[in-house]
Amino acid sequence: MSAETVVEGQLHSMEGTKKPCRSCKWEIEDPTNPAQGQCTVNRTTMGSIWKRWVRDSANMTCSHHEEGVLSFREHV
Ligand code: SF4
Repeated sequence: MSAETVVEGQLHSMEGTKKPCRSCKWEIEDPTNPAQGQCTVNRTTMGSIWKRWVRDSANMTCSHHEEGVLSFREHV
C-alpha cells in the first residue's frame, strides 16, 4: 500500500516511536500542557511558519524529525 509512504512525511500517530515530536527540534512545547505542542517545520512559499498542532508529542512523529533544540538564531 502506498498510503504508508504518503503519511511518513506528515505528522502522524505512532505509538511508542523512537523519534517523537517531543525530542524534535521543530516542536514547541505547549506551556500549559507539555504532552502537547506545535510543530514549526512547515514553511509557506513566502517563508512564514505554518504551525501544526501536536496532539500527543510522545506518540507522534514524521520523517522531518531532527534531534536537538530549536535555535532561534537560525530563524533571524
Ligand atoms: S518535524 Fe515531525 S517529528 Fe518534528 S515536531 Fe514536526 S511533526 Fe513532529
